Amino acid sequence: MKSGPNHFSTIVHLLPAATRRRGYRPRGLAAALFLLLAGLLPATALEPGGIKPAPNPLILISIDGFRWDYLARYAAPVLQQLAGQGVRAERMNSVFPAKTFPNHYSLVTGLYPEHHGIVSNWFFDPAFGETFGMSKPESNTNPRWWGGEPIWITAEKQGLRSACFFWPGSETTHQGFRPSFFKPFNGKLPSNDRVDGLLAWLDLPAGQRPQVSTLYFDIVDHAGHTFGPDAPETQAAVAAVDASIGRLLAGLTARGIREHTNLVIVADHGMADCGPDKVIFLEDLMDMNTVQVESLGPNGGVRPKTGTAAELVASIRAKKPAHVQVYLREEVPANLHYRDNPRIPPVMLIADEHWNIESRVGWSFRSRTYSRGSHGWDPATSDMGALFLAQGPAFRQGVILKAFDNIHVYNLLCAALGLQPAPNDGDDRLVRAALAK
Ligand code: AMP
Ligand code: ZN
Ligand code: ZN
Repeated sequence: MKSGPNHFSTIVHLLPAATRRRGYRPRGLAAALFLLLAGLLPATALEPGGIKPAPNPLILISIDGFRWDYLARYAAPVLQQLAGQGVRAERMNSVFPAKTFPNHYSLVTGLYPEHHGIVSNWFFDPAFGETFGMSKPESNTNPRWWGGEPIWITAEKQGLRSACFFWPGSETTHQGFRPSFFKPFNGKLPSNDRVDGLLAWLDLPAGQRPQVSTLYFDIVDHAGHTFGPDAPETQAAVAAVDASIGRLLAGLTARGIREHTNLVIVADHGMADCGPDKVIFLEDLMDMNTVQVESLGPNGGVRPKTGTAAELVASIRAKKPAHVQVYLREEVPANLHYRDNPRIPPVMLIADEHWNIESRVGWSFRSRTYSRGSHGWDPATSDMGALFLAQGPAFRQGVILKAFDNIHVYNLLCAALGLQPAPNDGDDRLVRAALAK
């Protein structure tokens, strides 16, 4: 397993190691330093009547599957201009697995999937005896699946209004709170309609209008899957999303709020090419009658129905399969942070980049329309890297950051909004690198 690029160049060692541990929560001297450096102290001063001054509005935009290098590789004039004006990362590292739901939820909670509980797009919960699925309404609306505290809940709890024009986790309540505005996911809604929907929320009178919003685009991911990351169709999808973000900026300008608005634009993961010729069949590795299959694709997960997980792992290893590593959940490489949750399958198979774990069931049919691009491999691989940029009055200008992990974004969002972050796995390094002094 390659170790991931994970450094903030000049800023890594500025605070004591204790502040860089998992579950960082500012305390004592470290808290004062953190708040000072994060620019939070002015926000704690109350206006007469005890009302906190409203922060500048922040819009968190996700372009699903926008690989880090698309920014330079494909024409995206709006994003390129924003990157030049603000902070951009050379790349941002996904959490494992590099899939949509775990990564979107890590971005807004600062937690690894093993801690927020959305361990994949689809997973089995042994306590519930049920399967979570990204397209199941119950999974998206029932709070029992969703741990951690997403940014819109942090905002609502601390008196700000939030709005989600789509984001995994936004359709459920959390400790009785929910975003002031949200939409049930509709993948068919065109990108420009999503922009116009968000702008309509921003047209509400002050006091009702959201101060923190999310916006989500999926056409770059769709093109990447169908045609591959190198295809002209993927290039065209990048251009189309770029134009939609241009529409958003024009809408902000028309409302006189462009200069005050902070934008954080991210992707959940990258995209690597693949195809039906690079496939590992589960049937070649195990007796399918003895396991419950819980995931397929760049990583596979199975739960033994008979025998132990250790016996299954030993028998798979004895076959010396090519292009795949097999692990007990407890043995998954520590840098993947993917052990500490019973929803993680007890036996994990992680394919080499470009390879997929598949079942022969329906294969002759499915192989004909098999994806030309996918994601979910080790986040350290180059192709899994994601976009990150931040622009607006809260952020530094003309800064390029070394690669960092997406669990740090939540603390940056909180700092830009003057919010006290909930306990999380991130630390303050991104805040210190990206926030305007
Ligand atoms: P992935 O297979 O990991 O690439 O997932 C991408 C898909 O997730 C997109 O095609 C979207 O349709 C879907 N998706 C994204 N956000 C949501 C959401 N909030 N609710 C349901 N599905 C979503
Ligand atoms: Zn995605
Ligand atoms: Zn995808």
